[in-house]
Amino acid sequence: MTSRTLDLGPGVGLYMHEIGDGNGPTLAVLGGVHGDEIEGVAAARMLINLAELLDAQGLLRGTLRVVPVCNPPAFEARTRTSPLDGENLARVFPGDASASVTKQIAHALTERVIRGADLLVDLHSAGVHYSMPLFVGFVDHLVTSPMSREAATAFGAPLTWQHEGSGPGRSLSAAADLGVPSIYVEGSGGGGLAGTDLDTYVRGLTRLLAHFGMGHETPGPHIESTWLSGDDGDVDSSLASTFAGYCVTRSAAGDVVSTGQVIAEIIDDAARVVQQIRNPRPGPATVMMLRQTAIVTPGDAIAMLGPAPIAAASL
Ligand SMILES: [Zn+2]
Repeated sequence: MTSRTLDLGPGVGLYMHEIGDGNGPTLAVLGGVHGDEIEGVAAARMLINLAELLDAQGLLRGTLRVVPVCNPPAFEARTRTSPLDGENLARVFPGDASASVTKQIAHALTERVIRGADLLVDLHSAGVHYSMPLFVGFVDHLVTSPMSREAATAFGAPLTWQHEGSGPGRSLSAAADLGVPSIYVEGSGGGGLAGTDLDTYVRGLTRLLAHFGMGHETPGPHIESTWLSGDDGDVDSSLASTFAGYCVTRSAAGDVVSTGQVIAEIIDDAARVVQQIRNPRPGPATVMMLRQTAIVTPGDAIAMLGPAPIAAASL
């Protein structure tokens, strides 16, 4: 039985908790890649507490690697990007040991946490300025995708998104390069911490322990999930405001919107509508991320769309 805390460098308080007997699968869990996403940090810490209890009873097989706060400078500042170098940790994987602090963090996570794991779970959420429906996502069309799909199913989120691809620099792309299956989780955000979200994150993580035969728990009942298929889920390509003003939401995260339907409006100081954010797609789409903070400046992301749900029969 072991439970130890390792400082992964680079001198910013980046700690990995390694728990288990070392005999069996290795599950790698990241929280706080973005510093304003508390759900994943809290869920990762709850997983550590649970795993230490299991381990103390000799019930934890394999190895659990958990880094609850992957970006300590951003977490302390409660910002998405690092205050030290302005970089987005989720865009610089696999990192570089001799470059910026954020790239050094990515390098340490890639080499010390992701490499050699049987699954990577990267816990995100919408962050303070946005809302999202709670979902689990994975990238299709990779050698590792069948195992990622199984893990996503085992996690049991109310919504599952299989992506056509993903951009470079993600933890998931670093995992794919190392032959490691991976999933990521998103939740409500908006500056709150919804108990139902937190419970679903923690339940999903314990279901993964059961999926890999690492804990004593049984997987539990099958959880019905709505599936989305397609797109890459890149928040950098969201529909954006072209004006300074205030965002008026005309939909909610998780809503399915028809072609041309207004998702949000931007109003100016005189409360005149200066921009309407509509679904530009030729068919229905799902609102996967929506601005919650009213004040916006030109270029601020307002909404990210995903595909419409697919019928269960077509899976
Ligand atoms: Zn994130």
